[in-house]
Amino acid sequence: MIFALAPQAEKALNILQRAGHEAWIVGGCVRDFLLGRIPTDYDLTTSALPQEIRAAFSGHRTLDIGEKHGTVTVLLEGLPLEITTYRVDGGSSDARHPDQVRFTRSLREDAARRDFTINAMAYAPGQGLQDFFGGQEDLDRGILRCVGDPARRFQEDALRILRALRFSATLGFPLEEETAAAAHAQAWLLEGLSAERVRGELGRLIRGKDAGQVLEHYPEILGVVLPELLPMIGLDQRSRYHSYDLLTHTARAVDHTPPALTIRLAALFHDCGKPECFTLDKDGEGHFYGHPGHSAALAAEALSRLRFPKRVQEEAVTLIRYHGAQIQPQKLKRWLNRLGPQTFFHLLALQRGDTLALAPAYRDRVQALDALAAQARALLREKPCLTVRDLALNGHDMMALGYQGREIGTALGLLLEAVLEGRCANEREELRQYLTRNPPL
Ligand code: ATP
Ligand code: MG
Repeated sequence: MIFALAPQAEKALNILQRAGHEAWIVGGCVRDFLLGRIPTDYDLTTSALPQEIRAAFSGHRTLDIGEKHGTVTVLLEGLPLEITTYRVDGGSSDARHPDQVRFTRSLREDAARRDFTINAMAYAPGQGLQDFFGGQEDLDRGILRCVGDPARRFQEDALRILRALRFSATLGFPLEEETAAAAHAQAWLLEGLSAERVRGELGRLIRGKDAGQVLEHYPEILGVVLPELLPMIGLDQRSRYHSYDLLTHTARAVDHTPPALTIRLAALFHDCGKPECFTLDKDGEGHFYGHPGHSAALAAEALSRLRFPKRVQEEAVTLIRYHGAQIQPQKLKRWLNRLGPQTFFHLLALQRGDTLALAPAYRDRVQALDALAAQARALLREKPCLTVRDLALNGHDMMALGYQGREIGTALGLLLEAVLEGRCANEREELRQYLTRNPPL
């Protein structure tokens, strides 16, 4: 295995070791190297106490963000390195915060407090790999296993349950049997976690390459933090368009969308309003009239409860609201105007994923969506007029034409409407004439 450490990480290990301390890279970056990936950030663990770390890096910029947990962040040539003193977490009375943090001189004890065996390995050039809990073997087998007794580890910090699902979604590893059983048994503890911690893990989970699989295998666990999912489990849609129950359809839709946060969140919630909109017609066929709006409302509530950033909430909700819309090619400019190009292409990506999760006979509808995307790209290359700002006449021109105050906005809005509908070309003279023929009221 090649550990091609970033020079800054190697330098930091050297500085600590030369000052007489033990120092290792640890956790995610070691795991990534063993998977043949280049890590993007490095965590270091060391026998040095926080003040000793700061003394060793006295010539460098240090930030004390995690100081009370023994973490010092050092900025070496632009790369932030999180350096943490070997420590043991005390027990926890609320499954959220360790009651106390105690420093230790033992790397093994530091490894023992880490969540999963594959995240509990340390490495340093010249010293080799330190793997106390069979992390390498679990990595080779592709499984997620808690360090120690999973039930106890989840009781200490319930976030580890979500982290297990997050790593399962991003790495494609299933949970080892006892870890999975404990995750189910302790899932209720997730209720006590802060929205911010849940959001962090869910956001990464949903972008994982196997997010759909995780959704399909652990809906009851996710349902503790996303109760919107619970009525979807096993719901038979009684519809010719669907060969899967509602939750499985949702999982397939997630799998068929690109891993961008808003699109994935939209895929996750796009049909969550269906259970409450379900009706059967006289032929026994299921319908879900009004479900996009209802899903959008439920998603808006869920995403704000989880404190996703405002613009993420807004885009996801917009995508959900329009996920069932039939976009006519002749209305492309209108859609681009309404949503903006980026959200418009995200909507097509969502519709594509949703379509590929339908019953096989209906999946070829993606061809129409792909054609629409190509058409929209071609249209955008012509730099069409999509907003008031793109009009060939601006506010000053309108004043010169004798408009004042609010009339200006009204007139420009009217012109944009005419251009979008193809009733008038976006050229100064034509726009002027159009206004003379159709003066705003
Ligand atoms: P990523 O590559 O996604 O950053 P990571 O493994 O580095 O993955 P982090 O959240 O950055 O994940 O955490 C760094 C390390 O800290 C983990 O590898 C793990 O050893 C330990 N860790 C983080 N959170 C917990 C936790 N809640 N309980 C126990 N150990 C944890
Ligand atoms: Mg990390």
